[in-house]
Amino acid sequence: ATPTSIMVGTGKAAEMGVLFRKGEALQTLQEAQVIALDKTGTLTKGKPELTDLRVPGGFDEAEVLRLVASLEQKSEHPIARAVVKEARARGLELLEPQDFEALPGFGVSGQVGIYRVDVGADRYMAQLGVDVSPFAAEAQRLADEGKTPLYAAVGGKLAAVVAVSDPVKEGTPEAIAALHRQGFKVAMITGDNRRTARSIARQLGIDEVLAEVLPEGKADAVKQLQGKGYRVAFVGDGINDAPALAQADVGLAIGTGTDVAIETADVILMSGDLRGVPNAIALSRATLKNIK
Ligand code: ADP
Ligand code: MG
Repeated sequence: ATPTSIMVGTGKAAEMGVLFRKGEALQTLQEAQVIALDKTGTLTKGKPELTDLRVPGGFDEAEVLRLVASLEQKSEHPIARAVVKEARARGLELLEPQDFEALPGFGVSGQVGIYRVDVGADRYMAQLGVDVSPFAAEAQRLADEGKTPLYAAVGGKLAAVVAVSDPVKEGTPEAIAALHRQGFKVAMITGDNRRTARSIARQLGIDEVLAEVLPEGKADAVKQLQGKGYRVAFVGDGINDAPALAQADVGLAIGTGTDVAIETADVILMSGDLRGVPNAIALSRATLKNIK
């Protein structure tokens, strides 16, 4: 490999908004067999909206939303922002929660006024011993639509099922189709609900789904794919994607993502557009063909 052609290759990539940190990444990228992608913020916009809210008979919807949003004010999670935004849009006055706690991959808890409030995934409610069966069918239906269902408990009792929806980025379907044409297997790694992840994967034609992965488990998910004999390229944007970016044979970060992800990656996609991935691969193939 001549340094000159690598420079030309990485230079052309940079013009397309794809920054190769190291020349070797041109080689490792085209040697990958699986392209594994984080879901939230990578395949999707990472800006969910609250789409559904249901409360049991006898509960006041606005009051439940007020309690839930009061708690979520303290969370940095995009889901929390969606809930708070909806509460504000409805003109609800939020309270300052006490004893706020975030349980990564599970949910959040705290005291809002006189109530203990818990919000999170079904696995979090199971851990708390909250019976979600009255809304389980509804949650499944929402997940099958590609939405993320959450439960809220007030005073340890089921008080709502909430759904948020995070739209797929504009360039994502085309990027996946191009990766398939290039001969790659495409996988999704996410902390989100399994049914939600499967629904989105089906919609995009993604081949393999690793869902309900805890924040510290993404690197293990990459290892799991590598254990099947695949060389893996991982694409992500979040703080908890950094270990997976490091574990992958080649790591690609979204330039609009968090600093740690960008610092850990071998390749940076300046725009959030995933079409940068097949474009970078096409370019690395062309560059290395010229070298041989
Ligand atoms: P991802 O980045 O894929 O959303 P996370 O590990 O951050 O994965 O979250 C996994 C799940 O944990 C979420 O889908 C949600 O069910 C639950 N969760 C995390 N944070 C919150 C929160 N602030 N409010 C409600 N649920 C949450
Ligand atoms: Mg993400």
